[in-house]
Amino acid sequence: MSSAFKISVTKMDFGAAEELTRKVYDTIIIGGGPAGMSAAIYAARYGLDTAIITEEIGGQVGKAGWVENYLGYTRILGTDLVNKFEEHVKYYNVPIIIDSVENVERDGELFRVYTLNGDEYATRTVIISVGEKRRKLNVPGEDTYNGRGVSYCAPCDAPLFKGKVVAVVGGGDSAASAALLLTEYASKVYIIHRRNQLRAQKYYQDLLLKNPKIEIIWNSVVKELQGDKLLRKAILQRVDTKETFELPLDGLFVEIGAEPPVDLFKRIGLELSQDGYIRVNHLMETNIPGIYAAGDCVDLTPRDFRQIVVAAGQGALAVYSAYNYIIKRFGFNRK
Ligand code: NAP
Repeated sequence: MSSAFKISVTKMDFGAAEELTRKVYDTIIIGGGPAGMSAAIYAARYGLDTAIITEEIGGQVGKAGWVENYLGYTRILGTDLVNKFEEHVKYYNVPIIIDSVENVERDGELFRVYTLNGDEYATRTVIISVGEKRRKLNVPGEDTYNGRGVSYCAPCDAPLFKGKVVAVVGGGDSAASAALLLTEYASKVYIIHRRNQLRAQKYYQDLLLKNPKIEIIWNSVVKELQGDKLLRKAILQRVDTKETFELPLDGLFVEIGAEPPVDLFKRIGLELSQDGYIRVNHLMETNIPGIYAAGDCVDLTPRDFRQIVVAAGQGALAVYSAYNYIIKRFGFNRK
């Protein structure tokens, strides 16, 4: 993070307005996943004064296992791909500010971006690429054993479970990818799925079914997690018969999808789909002129096709729109 790029004043400061406008960005990108990182590269190449504000670098990609469908890489770990993205953004000197955006408000021709750390940023346009927040199971024991057996990041924690018995909850691509990665370390990998059919791509399903370390527990949900200092077992319940049973475990990886941060979107005044995704047109324009959105948080992206390449493409498109808005409204010689 480069503090040289930050405006940090309190609202009470004398002359705060002057200080706030001393640095006006062309675009602030909120979110550092593939959509945001791709937007940063395109924005820099358009000559836009740009910063990324993000809680973490890489978004969901950093928590993915092996990525095998991103152009240019036949097989790369999500964490390594994130490093490549970061390297690329740093090449263009775009500052990455680690913070959480609380609100965005229009202020005349500009927008003010307010963060959890109490900073304010002035910008001509905003690109929202915050992705989604991971769902939790919301069962007793989940918080107690978070970091003591319960994990939300297979690539981060898989090596800790060498020779151990683990389970992955979920039936989508994330669960499949996590389970496959875990087989490289654990002695046994259960997949706990609430239905009798996986949602994951066929490619993954074939790999799961032929892997001798993987066993799928169908039609079952986690009711509780128990242990001592560390997680020791999950209490499962069959969805059809309601019968409960215990599964001894060392680790449990929660991979049950994610939801958009609706509260933030509502505060900003963005028009949303019924399930809380930002409505955008084919140019990634939202209902607020000057605010664009891209990636997993927009309603244009199919729910079952959250792909890195789609997010990256949308991030580039959002910048195309932001650039045209800036040139039309502020001209080439803006200060
Ligand atoms: P997802 O596709 O929404 O799948 C979530 C899974 O968790 C579903 O199987 C769902 O069950 C289950 N689930 C949801 N809530 C649950 C709960 N409370 N208790 C138990 N199970 C629950 O999410 P995802 O797997 O994270 O994937 C998200 C997106 O990322 C998708 O578009 C996916 O294609 C993409 N992705 C792609 C790749 C890749 O291409 N390599 C890798 C990872 C993710 P039901 O099936 O019954 O709904």
